[in-house]
Amino acid sequence: MKITSALENNDDLKKNWSEVQNKLKEIYGLDVFKSWIQNVEAKEIQQNSLTLIVKTRFVRDWIVSHYADKILDFFQKLDSSVTRIQFEIHESFYADKKIQTNVVDFTTGSQVLDSKDAGYATNRLDHRLTFSNFVVGESNQLAFSAAKRVSETLGHYNPLFIYGSVGLGKTHILNAIGNELKKTDKKIIYLSAERFMYQFVKSIKNKDTQKFKDVFRNADVLIVDDIQFISGKEVTQEEFFYTFNSLVENQSQVIISCDRAPNDLDRIQDRIKSRLSGGLVIDIQNPDIALRLQILKNRCKTEETYFGKEVLVNDDILSFIANEFKSSIRDMLGVLNRVIASSRIQNKVPTLQDAKVILKDLLNNMQSVVTVEDIQKIVVNYYNLPMSDFLSSRRSRHIARPRQVAMYLAKKLTTKSLPDIGRKFTGRDHTTVIHAIKKIEEMMAADKKFEYEVQDISNKILKSN
Ligand code: ADP
Ligand code: MG
Repeated sequence: MKITSALENNDDLKKNWSEVQNKLKEIYGLDVFKSWIQNVEAKEIQQNSLTLIVKTRFVRDWIVSHYADKILDFFQKLDSSVTRIQFEIHESFYADKKIQTNVVDFTTGSQVLDSKDAGYATNRLDHRLTFSNFVVGESNQLAFSAAKRVSETLGHYNPLFIYGSVGLGKTHILNAIGNELKKTDKKIIYLSAERFMYQFVKSIKNKDTQKFKDVFRNADVLIVDDIQFISGKEVTQEEFFYTFNSLVENQSQVIISCDRAPNDLDRIQDRIKSRLSGGLVIDIQNPDIALRLQILKNRCKTEETYFGKEVLVNDDILSFIANEFKSSIRDMLGVLNRVIASSRIQNKVPTLQDAKVILKDLLNNMQSVVTVEDIQKIVVNYYNLPMSDFLSSRRSRHIARPRQVAMYLAKKLTTKSLPDIGRKFTGRDHTTVIHAIKKIEEMMAADKKFEYEVQDISNKILKSN
């Protein structure tokens, strides 16, 4: 008897927890859900305390500082006996349960398929990804304008094909289009190519392909993310091709994203490639430093409004992050999250040095992007000095000052230690570097013009990368 009731309780707990997870997904969006909530398991309730299992200390700290109040709130609505939450960290927990995690994903998928509504895939749009919080720069300007255009005038470009490498904002733009069109009475289907295939294969198994075809072919707008996924999947390609043709013929709008240009797709039929290229093909390129910085700044603002707490990350750190993490906006934002989390946990404004420590494991894996040599070259150029004078032991002001500027910038823009920096200036001592940094900081504080000058050089260095 006892066993049964324990099991039943456990069932209740699982059910309540998954309901709370869903609530959190609703209010915080898919990104947050996937990053922090999805992999947390409820273990037990004992003495009014709910125990959650997380994978790492870091995740625990992040949840505690961001979501714990809400979790407790929601949970209490379902089970008022709970008054506390505690965490257990199981580093290997998920490795052991990998299979089970997959099963959970699978179930979520089938719920979507079971839904009978014609617009059944629209619920997968992430309402937090909109045009208004998409920061526009040179690298994504065209994609942004085209997306806006299409959401204002359906069929203006058909299909619209947006490509670019991972983490550059494709999914964001596609969701923004979907969210915009959701305000109209159009039938929108938004899904990844992977899910398209999943639903299609499922419909074959269920001998239900007619319904599948009807649903897709009746859409006013079909948005398919990550089309590269259908490479090599012949049957799915076939179905996609027919769906695609019938939609475009009916003047329904099709919007596609991909990690590469249509012509670079391997193992996709030529007729499909040519169909995909038949409207407007646009790429998103790597963001430049200005765009990366702006995205970081906006994200800090969002965090502030979201949590009603000031974000304690200063501009120095933002520049540093923008400068070090260039290839994926997703990774860059992940890094920012990490610094914010740690500043919250320690309740202090991190210095640049703190940030480097927090990010140490990531920085070690990358080559430092700006080198001291780069800085020297640009400084020498800026002040029009011969490099040999610059690196010599001469101390006249017109050489010594630029040298100090270079040392200051080396500290600011690279992860090199003081002794390392000293060595790059023909074996100078780290105290010389400290002196240089102090001197330049003082001068910048006292003299706006000089501050701009250093900023200008700094920008030149960052741009040259
Ligand atoms: P992709 O689909 O190309 O791999 P995503 O659209 O998922 O990339 O973008 C990764 C993350 O970066 C998301 O959190 C997204 O909101 C954010 N992001 C990308 N580009 C921008 C931008 N221009 N402005 C604001 N956030 C952006
Ligand atoms: Mg994506």
